Amino acid sequence: MKQFVVIGLGRFGSSVARTLAERGYNVLAIDKDEALVQELANEVTHAVQADSTDENAMNALGLRNFDVAIVAIGSDVHANILTTMILKEMGVRYVVAKALDPLHGKVLTKVGADRVVFPERDMGMRIALNLISSNILDIIEFAPNFSIVEIMTTQNMVGKTLNELQLRSKFGVNVVAVKDGERINISPAASDELREGDVLVVLGENQALDKLKKL
Ligand code: ATP
Repeated sequence: MKQFVVIGLGRFGSSVARTLAERGYNVLAIDKDEALVQELANEVTHAVQADSTDENAMNALGLRNFDVAIVAIGSDVHANILTTMILKEMGVRYVVAKALDPLHGKVLTKVGADRVVFPERDMGMRIALNLISSNILDIIEFAPNFSIVEIMTTQNMVGKTLNELQLRSKFGVNVVAVKDGERINISPAASDELREGDVLVVLGENQALDKLKKL
């Protein structure tokens, strides 16, 4: 099973650590602030007080054996970059680092981060899109220009089958699931009729998804 280390237990880091632990993964949580370490101690596999910019301390914790490291240090950009670099030099296979802005993200990529995330920017975008398009419930960026969106069925969809709607040929998008209250159908058939309140999970190019929202 994959082993995770989360460094920096602010709101973002502690949420990542908790979610991984709740899903049954081994999580080592690290922060230089002992109080934050104690707060999480009962919820993750191990919680340790340490300064992640101290290479010796990181080596002593055996971090090279972890599959994935999440660098969730926020405002201390220097510590965030240094930690990312140390983890990659130690041989951690996959390092995810949180960036404050695009320039910071560029530096993180240069020092070896395998993935850079912008939690505030991404969450802001998701909420804004949700607010301006009433039938969009959620949106996840899947790849540059591609997203997975949850769309509430519009009046033009209710009572029609997926075959009748021709979403693939007309919009070039794929309906990957249909949610109906608590139930989720992950292999919707062309003959499935959509009902009011159904939620479509659709994968496609952003431009195509924009057109679909107006259907
Ligand atoms: P969030 O938005 O997730 O709450 P933030 O962006 O405000 O976080 P900070 O609070 O600056 O980020 O940092 C997150 C955590 O990282 C803090 O709890 C801080 O103690 C910890 N941290 C900062 N530097 C180090 C370091 N060198 N070693 C270990 N932990 C660190």
